[in-house]
Amino acid sequence: MEWEKQALDYFDENVLAGPHQIDMRRLYAEKLARAKKKEAVTQFEVEQTIKDYADFFGEEMIKRVTECFSSGKGMPELPPTEKEGKPCLYQIETCHSKYFGCPSQIIDVREISQPLIDALEDYHLTELLADKSHGPLMLHNKFTISISSCANVCTGGESKDMGIWGVEKPRINPEVKCVDCKKCMEACWDSAISFKKEGQPIINERLCKLCGACIKKCPTGTIELEKRGYRIFVGGMFGRMYTIGREVFRMGERQDIFKTLDAVVSLIREKQDGEHFLSQVVDKVGIDYINRRVFGGTKERKGL
Ligand code: SF4
Ligand code: SF4
Ligand code: SF4
Repeated sequence: MEWEKQALDYFDENVLAGPHQIDMRRLYAEKLARAKKKEAVTQFEVEQTIKDYADFFGEEMIKRVTECFSSGKGMPELPPTEKEGKPCLYQIETCHSKYFGCPSQIIDVREISQPLIDALEDYHLTELLADKSHGPLMLHNKFTISISSCANVCTGGESKDMGIWGVEKPRINPEVKCVDCKKCMEACWDSAISFKKEGQPIINERLCKLCGACIKKCPTGTIELEKRGYRIFVGGMFGRMYTIGREVFRMGERQDIFKTLDAVVSLIREKQDGEHFLSQVVDKVGIDYINRRVFGGTKERKGL
């Protein structure tokens, strides 16, 4: 789509964002112009774009981005994906909150990457996987740990060897009067909130994805945070042998990530025998192998 020169200059001077986000804002300005049946993007659409993104991301995040770019620092340093200076048969993926944060963010993805890499190095996972695999090593031999900051799981953690994401469990505080604004219900994409009667919300725990959106939106605190933690899946896979990972923790603690990783490494060490992928080993042996190691032989699962 065409752009008026003034709009282009205004965009270049005033729109501050990382490379991927800049393109999204360009496309958004064009969409606004098309909606008004304009032949070219004008400064009006650029101003509207700046406003709409500010409303979406919130003041705090826009301030962080502006500070970074206006001070000349540019993009923030990203968390490591593997051991620096060494070829690895694993990788850590993290969601886009690693750049400037995210309005939906629950956990800090930057904070777990390095400890996970240290643990994987202690297990000598690269050498273990190299010795277990057959045929020349390829990129698909990499063991992937995917970390997302919230239950939107933008990194697709259910389809990775190990998926970890931040979760928040809401609860109703009966001591705090609900003003029946329904903001919680509008915020819930999973239709997990309904009303017994006016001013009496209920949460369907089976439908709740633990995203915490209702907690953020409730103006009175009637819906409040009960617990924050980590949801953990193992053995997911995309492609020819696609498999959704199996849930180990619905609401785990930080240490549960490392307990689960320990169980996964044991599984590879003891049971991988000719299989290409962790998902195949989990299919063969069953998720109980992991559960027994993580929960110490008891059937009781932590969390919810
Ligand atoms: S997973 Fe959540 S926090 Fe991360 S980028 Fe997606 S929406 Fe934002
Ligand atoms: S935490 Fe998320 S999924 Fe659960 S009830 Fe609240 S908005 Fe809905
Ligand atoms: S957002 Fe809070 S105050 Fe509004 S209806 Fe929901 S529980 Fe009630």
